[in-house]
Amino acid sequence: MITIKNAAQIEKMKAAGKLLGRIRDAVRDAVRPGITTLELDKMAEEMIREAGAIPSFKGYHGFPSTLCTSVDKVVVHGFPNDVPLKEGQLLSIDTGLILNGWQADSAVSVIVGGKGSEIAEKLLRVTEECFYEGLKKAREGNRVGDIGHAVQVHAEKNGFGVIRALCGHGIGREMHEDPDVPNYGEPGRGPRLKRGMTICIEPMISAGHWSVHTLADGWGVVTDDGSICSHHEHTICITDDAPEILTLGGN
Ligand code: MG
Ligand code: MG
Repeated sequence: MITIKNAAQIEKMKAAGKLLGRIRDAVRDAVRPGITTLELDKMAEEMIREAGAIPSFKGYHGFPSTLCTSVDKVVVHGFPNDVPLKEGQLLSIDTGLILNGWQADSAVSVIVGGKGSEIAEKLLRVTEECFYEGLKKAREGNRVGDIGHAVQVHAEKNGFGVIRALCGHGIGREMHEDPDVPNYGEPGRGPRLKRGMTICIEPMISAGHWSVHTLADGWGVVTDDGSICSHHEHTICITDDAPEILTLGGN
């Protein structure tokens, strides 16, 4: 069931989103060669709890951590670990929280040390652009397929693959609500977007093929061909005008 949020509920989601944006950016800015993803995870959990919020990933269907930290060929759901990050690796950080009963969910990808291969840097840029291409279509009266189509066209025209096994989603009191928001699709298809819908748009883009498999830990999702992957996600709100990003970050 798709839930429509009223103005007061959206204000609460904005507060959750603002907090998450700030913490996501602080974690992103702490990434450097030599730091471990477990250290980043601890930092995120402390910041979330100090703000009076709850890390929503931790314990979700048994997930062990506050962050999903996915390196290079890992698309999503990587477990934080004690392996020091190395210069040039592509790290995706996905995290979520609950503040006063309302959820926010966001992911960002970075190159450890700031400088990576030409393909890694292009992948990072194109994945973020894919998010904004999808966002442009997140308008009242459009359909979910308009978002996915826009993401897919931009990724594929840059020679990249759109992960199909995972998708964006509605969000509200629950982290994963209807509708599914795939990163591929046909324009004019799927549920119609309405003012007051809050959704996560989250392109997961591979430098190679889109096919993936799950690791033996039951969580980590990796590309079959070993290609590096990038992930960019925000929680957004459909309005009667331009969509609003709730997890923007900054101040
Ligand atoms: Mg999500
Ligand atoms: Mg997420």
